[in-house]
This record gives sequence, C-alpha cells and structure tokens, in this order.
Amino acid sequence: MSLFWDNINIKFLQGIGEQRAKLIVSELGIISYHDFVRYYPYKYIDRSKVYNISEITNDSLTYIQIRARVIAMQTIGIGRKMRLQVTVQDATSRAELVWFRGVEWAAKRIEIDREYIIFGRPTFFNGRLNIAHPEMDIPMSAAALQKMGMHGIYSVSERLNKSGANSNIIQSVIHGLLKSGAQHIEETLPEWFLQKYNLISLKESLINIHFPQSNELLSAAQYRIKFEEFLVIQLSILRQRSIRVTQYQGYMFPKIGDAFNTFYNENLPFELTNAQKRVVKEIRQDSITGRQMNRLLQGDVGSGKTIVAFLAMLIAIDNGFQCCLMAPTEILATQHYHSLLEMSEGLNITIDLLKGSTTKRKRASLTESLASGEINILISTHAVLEDYVVFKSLGLVVIDEQHRFGVEQRSRLWRKSTLAPHILVMSATPIPRTLAMTIYGDLDVSIIDELPPGRKEIKTLLMNDSRREQVFGFMRQQIALGRQIYIVYPMIKESEKLDYKNLEEGYDSITRAFPMPQFNTAIVHGKMKAADKEISMQQFKNHEAQILVATTVIEVGVNVPNATVMIIESAERFGLSQLHQLRGRVGRGGEQSYCVLMAGYKLSVDSRRRLEAMVETSDGFELAELDLKLRGYGELEGTRQSGDMFDLNLASVSRDNELMIFVREVCEELLADDPLLEREDNSLFKALTESKSAGKVVDFSTIS
Ligand code: ADP
Ligand code: MG
Repeated sequence: MSLFWDNINIKFLQGIGEQRAKLIVSELGIISYHDFVRYYPYKYIDRSKVYNISEITNDSLTYIQIRARVIAMQTIGIGRKMRLQVTVQDATSRAELVWFRGVEWAAKRIEIDREYIIFGRPTFFNGRLNIAHPEMDIPMSAAALQKMGMHGIYSVSERLNKSGANSNIIQSVIHGLLKSGAQHIEETLPEWFLQKYNLISLKESLINIHFPQSNELLSAAQYRIKFEEFLVIQLSILRQRSIRVTQYQGYMFPKIGDAFNTFYNENLPFELTNAQKRVVKEIRQDSITGRQMNRLLQGDVGSGKTIVAFLAMLIAIDNGFQCCLMAPTEILATQHYHSLLEMSEGLNITIDLLKGSTTKRKRASLTESLASGEINILISTHAVLEDYVVFKSLGLVVIDEQHRFGVEQRSRLWRKSTLAPHILVMSATPIPRTLAMTIYGDLDVSIIDELPPGRKEIKTLLMNDSRREQVFGFMRQQIALGRQIYIVYPMIKESEKLDYKNLEEGYDSITRAFPMPQFNTAIVHGKMKAADKEISMQQFKNHEAQILVATTVIEVGVNVPNATVMIIESAERFGLSQLHQLRGRVGRGGEQSYCVLMAGYKLSVDSRRRLEAMVETSDGFELAELDLKLRGYGELEGTRQSGDMFDLNLASVSRDNELMIFVREVCEELLADDPLLEREDNSLFKALTESKSAGKVVDFSTIS
C-alpha cells in the first residue's frame, strides 16, 4: 500500500490521542495506519433486524436480536459459581438470559419490567431460547436500527475498554481512516488473478469488512482477505523452499563407514521397526544430494526417534563431520547424553555434554576439543548457541522437540559451519497434515507411524478428585509390583503462586500417604536449581524413588521404562497435546501402564471432551485433529489466539482448512514455471512474499 498507510502516528487520529495510542500499540499490536485498517471486526450485528422470540429456532443464525421486557431476575449460587438469570418476554414467547461473569455488574444495570434490545448468540435449553452474556441496549426507533445495518464489533482488551477505547471508538477511527485513505489503497493482486479466482478488489474488501454494505459483500470481502492471508504465507514458504533447493549447497555424506556399520551390525539393541528403517533411508538419501537437508521427523511419543537420529549422526561421523543434538531442557539433554553414551559403547566416538550450568573450566576444555574436532557428538541445550562455541566441521544438527526453539535461535546454529548443516527436527507433537503444511511447509516430513513391537496400550482413566484414596490404593499396588509413578501438576505463569502451593500441598499429602523409609518421593519443578533437579531425576531413574512429583518439566522426552503410572492432577487445565505427551512418559517398558486423569466435578464442555478423548483414544494424530477443532471452536467464540506464528488476522487454519488447501494448490501452480517469482508479470506476488506479514513465516533456511 502507499505511503499514507505506512504512517505510524496513530496518536493524531481523531479519537485516539497520546495515551490511547500507547495502549493500542501495546494491547493490540497496532502500530501504523496499515495495521489499523487490518484490525477486523470479530463479529457483526445485523442491527436492522429484530426477531420475534418464537421465530428463533435451533438452527437460527449465529447472532440474533430481540426486543423484550424483563419479567423476572434472580442470582443463583455464590462466589465464583454465581450466575444471573433473567427471564424476558415479547409478544410471542419467553427467553432466558444468563450471565456467568460480571454478574453483579449486569444485575445492577438491568431493571425489572423494562424493555430492552437484546443481542446475542442463541442456544436452546429444554426447548427454551437461552442467550448467555447478551448485549443489552435501550430500545431505539426502527429507523435508528435500520441505519445501523451490519455493525462490526471489534475486540478490545480490558485495559483499552477502561480507557474508553471501546469497539465503537475503534470503528470510528477506522471510518475516518478509510474516508481519507481509500484512494490510497493500492491493489496487491493482479487483475487477471482477481478475475480467475473471483476475488473483489482490496479497496472494496477493506471497506466492506469494516462497513458491510450487504451480507454478500461482507462474505466476498472476508473471502478475498482470507485468500490473501493464506496466499502470503504459502507463497513465502514455497518460494523459500525453492530458494533452498536451488541455491543452498549442503554437505555430502557419501560414505557408510565403521561407526555406522559396527553399531548397526553389532550393537543395535533391537530390530528397527519398518518405519524406522524407512526414515533412516530417507535421511540417507537427503545427505547425498548435495543440498541441505531440512527434515522434520514426526513420531508419536515412544516411537523410537532417538535411535534414528543416532544412526543419522553415525553417518555424518563416518564422513568426517561433527554432530550436535539440541534438547530443550537440561534434564532431557542429560538423558540423551547417557543413552547415547550407552549406545556408542565400543564405537570409538567421543560424545560430550554442554549445558547452561556447565562449569567454566569444563567449558574451556570442551570448546577446545570441539574446535579441534575431537568431539564427534555434542549434546546441548541452547547453551550451544553462544558465540564462543565453535565446531571444526558441523555437519548435522538434530533438534529434539523443536517447538521450543525459535527461528532466531536456529539461524544462530547455521552460522557455526561453512555450509548450512543438515537439519533434522524431531517432534513428538503430532500435527495434522494441514497444519504441518503451513507451519512446516518448508520442510520435508518423515513419519514414524509404528510403535516398537510388544507395547501394550496404556489404560487411561478419568477420576474425580474425591476418589483420591482409591488412587492411592492403586499406587500402593503398583509400587508393590516394583513399578514407579509420576504425578504431574499444572504450572502456568499467570497462576504460578497458586500452582506452586498446590504442588507443595500435593507433595506433602503424598509423603504422608507414602512415608519414608518404606517409600521415597522425589520432586522436580522449575524453581529448583539445575543440580537439585538432576539429583531428583537420578533418584527416580535409579529407582531410589518410587514416586516423582513434578511440574511439566518432565513433559518432553524423559525415559524411565519402569514407570507405569502417570497421574495428572487438574487434568482439565492441560491442553490435549500436552496430556498426550505426558501419557507418553509411561508404557515404555513391557508392563501394562496407566494414565490417571484427576479432575474436579465441574468441567466445561470443552475440558470434558478433551478428557474423554484421552480416555477413548491413544492415537496422537487423532487427538491433534480434535485439539485443533476444539481450539478452533474457541476462536469462533471470539477468543482469538494472539501471538500466533502467522499473521492470520481473519483466516483460521482450522475453520478455513479447505480454503488453505486450495490456496496452497494455487501457489504451487504459480510457482511451477517461476519458482523464485522473478518474472516481471509475477512482481506483485513477489512483493507479497516480501511484505511485512510474510516476514513472520517460520523460515527454516535463513543463513546469515
Ligand atoms: P521417542 O520417539 O519418544 O523419542 P525414544 O527414542 O525415547 O522415543 O524410544 C522410546 C523407547 O523405545 C526407548 O526405550 C527405546 O530404546 C525403545 N525403542 C526404540 N526403537 C525400538 C525398537 N525398534 N524396538 C524396541 N524398542 C525400541
Ligand atoms: Mg524423544
């Protein structure tokens, strides 16, 4: 867009001013006029239409408006469980209005026997129309309503609301912007493209998304904007991929040598599954193309990704290169270190470990032997990213549980060798295909879709908090059988204090129920020193402790095959993929394993569905799909997730799935005969990939 839209002095806009401008920047991330006009309503009200209550049926529109009189009102319950119930009536029927939040505030505002214009989302309960948290206005004339037409509602934060910058203010600012700026809106897509895919112009879209002139135009505007959002992302990803494939050289690993052969033929502790064999082959093929490998290795928890990575490392070593295995936590790095040491016995390779807590002296000797090439495999946390860490010849980087590593961190790794090292990203978070396509669109994907033989399905139980005694009894049985138990507590920044209190109380009650010296309970959490954490983990690993009480620090990768029970406290507070990860900590040996989800009675519909899904299936991909759906549902409710990896203002990966796949195909077609978008007639598309929103796309191939 033109210079007009780059303007960043939003404080001069009518209705904003210095203070609000600051808040708008910090709360909504709106910096320029451009950002402002792309801050879209999250819902619309058709204020011209007032329904009779009796007209509204189960399959009514998302939002409706009625005009009715309050005939009864009552608050039910106390404290956090308090709700306000209001009965209203029009000439045709009655409806119930309910508030679960802001009860007192709402109760004060609403008067018995008064008439209101009531707007909200209809649901039905026992055949009666229900509206939760409706908006209430005093009645206005039909003409006044008519004039309002389709009215956009903008989400604003609590703080903004308090400062007076409510949805209406945002709307009037945008109105002003469009009035003076509409002539400066430059089309971002070529005319033939608009025609071919039936897209309306950008100008028309922006005007109608904020101030819809009709339902049809609103839909057309939404479609065009979503289309473009996906287009930017997919074009950027695919173009980057072309750049990587055509321009970046990678190291060649032509040889299979002593290290690999000795291990494969003599030390392999078990037969590889077919899936593991296939993935090793895929990696091997990547490493002889002369191009840099960027591969995502997906495999459910316990599917055996580590050994695959180890085999890949042995190939690199056989070709004279060093490897680095990065883990997100010290616990996990340490654990990898021990298991790789064990696997490499008799192989004549040197493995070392670098952590944040590694002493200065050890660091000095370590850097020396890294730079001289003496160390073949370095296992490390993000400590490896420090500039002082220099390799002689880094050929392969394996990143375990990569979702915890940022893009910037990754590109710092790249700088540690002449050519970009081959990259193998291991992830146990099953990602639905469509999402993977967006997030990891630039990577090749290998999937281990087979568990090692002999694994028993983990039995998952949903238990009410009140049945704790029973759970203790079960724990005693398992301990008597010689097994070990994890108990995990949620830990969230926002409620950290309370969470630590719960953790401590939980730990106390466990040590009372399982007293020393007969039992030993270890504990790990984020506030402990690294050394203490390690002691606890070692105690559990060595079976000196039967129970490990922990926060989610154990979520990723910990491997104690003798542990057969995973108890998750306040399970309703965990996300599905997190629950699945945690469950994957057990069932790693041959014994029957259990996952016990502890939860309260009162569960939201979504939490209940999550927990029931956990009980029903252990298929990570199935759970991931459901997770996406549930969270997608959350988005519908207007609680849009901010800080997303992508600049999707309007489009949603879950809701607009089909459109995303379609746009992906459109992009592939566009790039087919101009992979880098260099042709003059593709210049608009190239500009899109260089636009601000494209910059946020995860770039796996940046070399500084
Ligand atoms: P993850 O994919 O979750 O990282 P790991 O690599 O930690 O899984 O492997 C889980 C467990 O399964 C380990 O104890 C490992 O030794 C074992 N394992 C891996 N592959 C096989 C196999 N093919 N046969 C038997 N056990 C295996
Ligand atoms: Mg692992």
